[in-house]
Formats: sequence, structure tokens, C-alpha cells
Amino acid sequence: MQDVFQYVDSHRDEMLSDLFTLVRQPGISTQGTGVVETAQMLVELMRRIGIETTVYETAGFPIIYGELKSPGATKTLLAYGHYDVQPPEPLELWNTPPFEPTIKDGRIWGRGTADNKGQLLAHIFAAKAFLQTRGAPPLNLKFLFEGEEEMNSPSLWPFVESHKGLLKTDAALTADGPSHPSGRQLINCGVKGMCYVEIKAKGANRDLHSMRGPMVYNPAWKLVHALATLKNRDEKILIQGFYDDVQPPTEAELAAVDAIPYNAEAIKRDLDVDELIGGDGSYYRNFVFGNSCNLAGLTSGYQGQGMKTVLPSRASCKIDFRLVPKQRPEEIVEKLRAHLEAGGFGDLEVEYLGGFYPSRTPVDHPYVQGVVRATRFVTGKEPVLSPNMAGSGPDYLFTGLLGLPSVWMPLSPHDSNNHAPNENIYLEGYFEGIKISAAIMEETAK
Ligand SMILES: [Zn+2]
Repeated sequence: MQDVFQYVDSHRDEMLSDLFTLVRQPGISTQGTGVVETAQMLVELMRRIGIETTVYETAGFPIIYGELKSPGATKTLLAYGHYDVQPPEPLELWNTPPFEPTIKDGRIWGRGTADNKGQLLAHIFAAKAFLQTRGAPPLNLKFLFEGEEEMNSPSLWPFVESHKGLLKTDAALTADGPSHPSGRQLINCGVKGMCYVEIKAKGANRDLHSMRGPMVYNPAWKLVHALATLKNRDEKILIQGFYDDVQPPTEAELAAVDAIPYNAEAIKRDLDVDELIGGDGSYYRNFVFGNSCNLAGLTSGYQGQGMKTVLPSRASCKIDFRLVPKQRPEEIVEKLRAHLEAGGFGDLEVEYLGGFYPSRTPVDHPYVQGVVRATRFVTGKEPVLSPNMAGSGPDYLFTGLLGLPSVWMPLSPHDSNNHAPNENIYLEGYFEGIKISAAIMEETAK
């Protein structure tokens, strides 16, 4: 790999300049600004490097598909990423202008440096380094870049579903998210699923004077009573059949999780909490394997200054359930509805707002083990291997729809401030990420 690594080392300036150009172009999908311009810029860069690139229009923002063939190669790797970014607000909390990339204290600061422009470029520049040094990458490469990730990828599922032939490959690789606090390279073999619902309770047809409390039911109480039946104080979810489809962790997954380093005291100090659910020793087991029924928001009545004696007419809450293989969000909603009905809360309205399927590739899969070797080779350290991340993402598209092994490998630091002010990636980490991506290509080709 020395030829490829040397190429990266001697072309740092242009690899930086291409990142800077991309970061200077805001492409904020949730606000609809500059996304198409960003896509054009990325397409132009990919074509300049020699990647055969096609733009697919969708109901939303374009999907960019690129292909680079390697003569004689039998394997193909699919690299996924996104070129849209989160809004930069609140602007006053940025130490440098969000769309003017700045190198300071060993980091590159700017919106999109980490999430995800600086990370998706790792695959493009790894490909470029192979092209320039050896004439071709060690395996065929396919690139799939979307511009709607920050708005939950509405066009990606239908695109993948209708382009299964085009995306037929041997493995999927995504560089996204923040890395492990230990500084060791993190390799996530999947994601948790999610089921997001809103529950609404209805009382009288209008807010009333609270003197009518003895006569008229209060929807806020109705909601609170219903919510209290969803989970007990030991964090067990009480919805009938909730855990039915949970796939128990394998020995290899348990061993991987128990090897993840962490300091429970430091976590508690950082969060200023006295205890963690399940006790200090359970943090990563819950992080990877734990379900949650998280009350994300609760609204009713009067919350302003002073007193207002009101009997509210409406109460509502939002809940996200984090799911593990092989739970399905649409089935969890049905179980929730049946549970409420059975408990006498059938008049509550449950609206399904969206979700993700959980997804996992076995930690002992040959592709994952190749990624581990590649990462160890480049960084000189043992990576942290996690069966899945605690968050959610569209990994099921690769594992479920396309049937591929898939890993999510963050190349930005744990404090890269994704979605927040002062987003950043380590300067050295940016170049190391290109080498890691190249080493994974080399390993996967074997
Ligand atoms: Zn993001």
C-alpha cells in the first residue's frame, strides 16, 4: 500500500482544496438551499477524477451514482455517503464562519467537514490514489451519494428498490458519524431501528375553566395514565409482544461489546447523572442491544409564567422506540395500538411519524474482519468493533434490500460536533481516512 499512501501524502494540498470547495457550497436539504449546486460540484469532481458518474433525479434531490471498473477484478464495493448538510444555526455559536473552512488547532472547521463531505471524499480520493498509482483500484467501485440524508433519506429506499441490479455488489461501506472517545477507529456493523409515534388525547371541544375538573375528564391525565402502562420503573417495556422478535446477541457480538473500552464514572460526570440504566457495567450492552421507549416530548395545558387554572382540551406526546434486529417499526406501532386498546385507552390517537429498520452484519463476517485488518494496518491500533451503533440509519437498504454485508466506519472525531456549531474533522484524520478507505478496498478485493 506504500505507493497509494505516498500518493495521498504528496497530494494533500489538492485533496484539501477540493474539500474546501465543497464545504464553501452550502447544500442544506431541510431548507432546500444549494443542494443541487452541491450535487453538480461533486459530480464535476468525480468526473475529473475519472469516475463514470450519472445523476438520477428523484422526487427530492438528486442521487449521484458513480462507477469505476477494475479490469479483471471479481469483487465490487459499494460506497455510500451524503452531500447535504444540516443548517448552520445558531450562527453566533460558531468560532469560525460555517461555510468558510478553516484549519485551526489541528482540525478543519466548517459545516460538512465531518458530516459528511469530508468523510465521503475518503472513498473518492482512495479511488483517485489507486488510479494515479496503479491505473485502477484493486476491485470495482460503485458510489452512491444522496442529498437527502439530513431529512431522513425519503428518496433513497425507492431508488435502491428500483435499482437493485445496478447496486449489486459484494459489500457496502459508509464513512459517517463520530468515532469512539478512545480515539481508536470505530467500526459499526449496523444500526438500531426506530419507530417514531405521536400519541394524542382529546378532551372537551375547547379548553375549560378548571372548576369543571370534577365533572369533565382531563386528556392530560388520560395520556399520563396511558403512558404509565408502556414501561415500568425497571425500564422494561410492557407493550404486549414488544420483545417477541428480538434476536438474541451471538457469542461473538457479546464478546465484541464487552471488549469496548469505557469509563462509566467519566460518562456520569460528563452528563452529571448519579446512575446509568442497568448499572455501570451495562452501558455498552444497552448501547448496542438495548431497546428504548423514549418520551421525546410531552405537551398539554398551560406552561407559561404564573398560574392559569385551565382544563386543557388536548394533550399529546412524541415517543421514539429504538429497535434491534429483527423488530419492525410498523409492527411495533400495531402492538402499541393493541396495547392501548386493551388497556382502555382505545380513544387515544396513535400516529406513526416514521422509522428505520434495524440492521446488523455479523461481527465475524469475512468482510468485517477485512475492514478490521485494514484499519489496524493503517492506524497501528486495534479498532473498536461494535455490532451496531446506538443510533439509526438506512443500513437496512444494504443488508436487507441488497443482501450485502455492510459497515459504518466514522472517520471524524468523537467531538466532531455533527449537526451542531463548530463541526470539525482532524486534519490528519482526514488524510488517514483516505488511507483507511484505500486499505479496505485492498482487503475487500482479496
Ligand atoms: Zn448528519
